[in-house]
Amino acid sequence: MGKPTGFMEFQRLSEGAEPAQDRIKHYKEFTLHLSDAEAGQQAARCMDCGVPFCNNGCPVNNIIPDWNDLVYRGNWAEASAVLHSTNNFPDFTGRICPAPCEAACTLNIDGDAVGIKSIEHAIIDKAWELGLVKPQPAAVKTGKKVAVVGSGPAGLAAAQQLARAGHAVTVFEKSSRIGGLLRYGIPDFKLDKTTIDRRVAQLEAEGVVFRTKVCVGAKPETVGINDDALEVVTADQLKAEFDAVVLAAGSEVPRDLSVPGRQLEGVHYALEFLVPQNKEVAGDEKNPISAAGKHVVVIGGGDTGSDCVGTSNRHGALSVTQFELLPQPPKVENRPLTWPYWPLKMRTSSSHEEGCERDFAVSTKELIGENGKVKALKAVRLDWSSGKPLETGHEFELKADLVLLAMGFTNPVHSLLDAFGVEKDARGNAKATTDGAGCYATNVPKVFAAGDVRRGQSLVVWAIREGRQAAREVDAFLMGSSVLPR
Ligand SMILES: Cc1cc2nc3c(=O)[nH]c(=O)nc-3n(C[C@H](O)[C@H](O)[C@H](O)COP(=O)(O)OP(=O)(O)OC[C@H]3O[C@@H](n4cnc5c(N)ncnc54)[C@H](O)[C@@H]3O)c2cc1C
Ligand code: SF4
Repeated sequence: MGKPTGFMEFQRLSEGAEPAQDRIKHYKEFTLHLSDAEAGQQAARCMDCGVPFCNNGCPVNNIIPDWNDLVYRGNWAEASAVLHSTNNFPDFTGRICPAPCEAACTLNIDGDAVGIKSIEHAIIDKAWELGLVKPQPAAVKTGKKVAVVGSGPAGLAAAQQLARAGHAVTVFEKSSRIGGLLRYGIPDFKLDKTTIDRRVAQLEAEGVVFRTKVCVGAKPETVGINDDALEVVTADQLKAEFDAVVLAAGSEVPRDLSVPGRQLEGVHYALEFLVPQNKEVAGDEKNPISAAGKHVVVIGGGDTGSDCVGTSNRHGALSVTQFELLPQPPKVENRPLTWPYWPLKMRTSSSHEEGCERDFAVSTKELIGENGKVKALKAVRLDWSSGKPLETGHEFELKADLVLLAMGFTNPVHSLLDAFGVEKDARGNAKATTDGAGCYATNVPKVFAAGDVRRGQSLVVWAIREGRQAAREVDAFLMGSSVLPR
C-alpha cells in the first residue's frame, strides 16, 4: 500500500472531459486521462485490503492493489507489466469498461471507490508514451496452426495468447477492418480507433496473420449485421487446414420490435446506424442514415442505445428521446445489500449528459407513418409494481422521424454454428462450459468458442477474459499442457 492514510486524505477525482456543448461538434475522444501526479494521488487511496474484492469484481482479475502501489511510487514500467499480466488490452477497458471492480472496492461500502478505471487508463496511456508496450514474439514455434474466427476483443485476446505460446495464428474477419464491436459498434468518441490499430500492429509483429473481408461458414442474411466479405471459407476448409479453431464471432443478431409500422422507412436497428457512422469517421463510406434535423427515438436503455443518443446529437438531431421498458432504478443503490456486487442504480452516460430525454417503464405499441415514412410512435406506460410489466392503459404519442432499435442481441448468427455442427445452448449461443476439463471446447472436435458467441452479448472485459482462457485450453489441447495464464 502506497500511503496508509491516503483514503482519508484524498478525495476521489474523476477524469476530466471536454464540455458537452463542444464535444458534440466532433467524434474524437473527449475524456482526458489523469496527470501522473493525479494518478499517483488517486492510487494512494487504495488500502491494499487483505481480501481485495476489486480483484474478484474485475472479470480479468486485474491485480489492482499491486498496480495502485506501483503508480503511487511512480514505477510505470512495473505497473504496466502487472496490468498486462492479466489483461491484454487495458487500452480498451481503461476507456470503456463499466468498472465492476469499483462497485466491489471496499471504500465503496460507505464512500467513494478508488478510481480504478481512471488509474488503469493512466497506466496504459503512459506505457505507450514511454514505449513500454512492445511485441513479444514467441522464442520457439510449435508448428501448430490455429484459426480464430472474429477479431473482436475475444478473438484478439485469444490470438495474442496463442501466438505468444508459439502457434501460427490466422484471424478471419468478415469486416473490412479488425476490432469487432470495438471498431464498428462503439463510437470513436468513446474509443479512438488508433487504440485498435496499434494493437493490431503489435499482434502482427508477434506473428498473427489477419485475413479481413473473409466470411467463415455462410454469409449472414439478417439485416443489421455488418458484412464486407468478398470471400467465403467453409467450415470444412478451416478444419482441414488448422489444428484448432476458435469461434469468437460475437452475438450479432439484433432483437426486433414486432409492432405495426416496423417496416416503415426511418426505423432501423441500432447497428444499421452505428456501423456506417464508424465507417464514415474512418473515411471508408458515408452513413446513409442521418439524424440531422430529426426527432429521434431510441428504443432500449443500454450501452448501444446510449451510443445512438451520442451519435444522434453529433448529427444535429432536433430532439433525442430514449425509451426503457424497465422502471427507473434508484439514484443511489442500497449498498449494504448490494456490495460487492454490481448494483442496480440509475446510470447516466456521457451521451445522456449531452442531451436526451429518458423515459422509463414504457412499451412501444405502434409506429405511425405518413407516405411510408415513420412520423410518430405510440407507446403505453407500464406498471411494474407486481414485478411484471402490466399495461396501465395510459397511451401517448411522440413525434419520431428516426427510430433506432437498441434492444439488445438475441444470439450469434446460427449459420456459422450450423456450418461447424456446433451445438447450441438454451439461449441459442455456442454451447461450451467455462470450468473443468474440456472448457471452452464445443461438441465438435478441435473447435472452441469464446466471448459473446458463447456467453451472449456482454462486455469487452468478459470477452478478453474468455479469449485468454480459451487460448489456454487450446494450447493445452495442442501441446498436452499449457503455461498460459487463465
Ligand atoms: C453499440 C455497442 C456498444 C457497446 N459498448 C460497450 C461498452 O461501452 N463497454 C463494454 O464493455 N462493452 C460494450 N459493448 C459490448 C461489447 O462490445 C461486446 O461484448 C464485445 O465486443 C464482444 O466481443 P467479442 O469478441 O465476443 O465479439 P465482437 O466484438 O462482436 O466481434 C465478433 C467479430 O466476429 C466477426 N464475425 C462474425 N461472424 C463471422 C464469420 N462468419 N466470419 C468471419 N468473421 C465473423 C464479426 O464481424 C466481428 O468482427 C457494446 C456493444 C455494442 C453493440
Ligand atoms: S478491466 Fe474493468 S473491471 Fe477490471 S480493473 Fe479495469 S475497469 Fe475494473
